[in-house]
Amino acid sequence: MAQFDCIVVGAGPAGSTAARELASAGARVLIVDRAEFPRYKACGGGIPLRTEKLLPFPIDSVVEDSVSLLRVAHNGSGAFVRDSGQPFAHMVMREQFDALLLEHARHAGAEFRPGTTVRALDLNGEVAIQADGFEARAQFIVCADGAHSPVGKMAGLGGGIAECAAWEVEVRAPALKQKAYRGTALIELGGRPWGYAWLFPKADVLSIGIVLPREQAGTMKDRVNAYIRSLGLENADVDIARGHKIRFRRGAEPIANEHALLAGDSAGLADEFTQEGISYAVESGRLAARNVLRGLGGGTITGYQRDIDREVMPELKAARLIAFMFYGMLHRAPRPWMFASGHMGYLWDAFFAVQRGESTYAREAARVPLLPGIARRMMERHGS
Ligand SMILES: Cc1cc2nc3c(=O)[nH]c(=O)nc-3n(C[C@H](O)[C@H](O)[C@H](O)COP(=O)(O)OP(=O)(O)OC[C@H]3O[C@@H](n4cnc5c(N)ncnc54)[C@H](O)[C@@H]3O)c2cc1C
Repeated sequence: MAQFDCIVVGAGPAGSTAARELASAGARVLIVDRAEFPRYKACGGGIPLRTEKLLPFPIDSVVEDSVSLLRVAHNGSGAFVRDSGQPFAHMVMREQFDALLLEHARHAGAEFRPGTTVRALDLNGEVAIQADGFEARAQFIVCADGAHSPVGKMAGLGGGIAECAAWEVEVRAPALKQKAYRGTALIELGGRPWGYAWLFPKADVLSIGIVLPREQAGTMKDRVNAYIRSLGLENADVDIARGHKIRFRRGAEPIANEHALLAGDSAGLADEFTQEGISYAVESGRLAARNVLRGLGGGTITGYQRDIDREVMPELKAARLIAFMFYGMLHRAPRPWMFASGHMGYLWDAFFAVQRGESTYAREAARVPLLPGIARRMMERHGS
């Protein structure tokens, strides 16, 4: 049976980052994915600029557009545009972005096995995985197996993590429409109690989608179709339309034990203001590698959960407070709030600074002394 220092399950941003960092440090790493690569992933492909700062290589080769304009509307009205003056996010196709991250992991020395679905996991003494016609052993396993996290569940981790639903459609718009959206991200607010539709421009397609509370998953397709019609794109060809869930770790849900760690969506590391998860997937992949290296050096890997609690959770918790505040105001007084927020330059400057990695949600939330108290009271009232 093949023997490694660490097995990484899932070659998305979390898994490929963990595998690259481990292999670069000299560990024998196997990365497996049930998909053949490059593979589609339901995603808007909006990459906040701060993500680039976490990667030791350029991603220009897969950037399809960079956005510096943000157009926000509420149920088709009250629209305003904020200009960040410089790009705050890159737009990528996930099949290409993920393939690039995987290529760097393989170049660093990680062995990749595509088309390998992990069906069983044994954590007695050592890690042993079983896939169809394939088995491997290692000292440690990083479960970077996405929001459904079947292997994380086999490891007994990730229970109690909250989730929401999202749906993405890739639309081939007429050339003029496609050109009109270059450099601009569109956000259409209006979900209750929260949620939004988006349009993100890529080189040849527009990514259009919606993110909503889990209970409203059944309404996603109709709402996206209505949004597409409102943009005058109902006759455009649709390349692909798919949904997936996104998970949110809110407290101390278990994401590490003696042999296994959860990274990325598997650990619920997405923020509740924008529902972005790619930068946190990369960050947690790095922290997973750091802890596995500690384990391989004779220590333990359980400090991973502490690292996530210290380095990632303050950001996710602040994003949740901001989301409660923002959506709370929007529902209480939609028109005045859209008008006011459209004119509050500092609000969007702060958002752009967080996206670019020049600030953090935690720092921006702390600037508004009453925010944590108000948002917490709103959360208590809504019982979440
Ligand atoms: C519709 C939608 C839109 C989104 N838009 C954005 C956005 O614009 N920006 C942003 O930052 N985030 C966005 N997100 C969130 C983002 O997609 C995730 O946070 C990100 O993909 C997490 O990366 P990951 O590496 O943890 O998992 P994934 O990218 O999901 O990778 C997990 C991998 O595990 C593999 N796998 C699963 N089970 C097994 C198994 N049993 N055996 C072997 N392999 C397995 C899968 O094949 C997959 O390749 C969006 C999510 C959705 C659903």
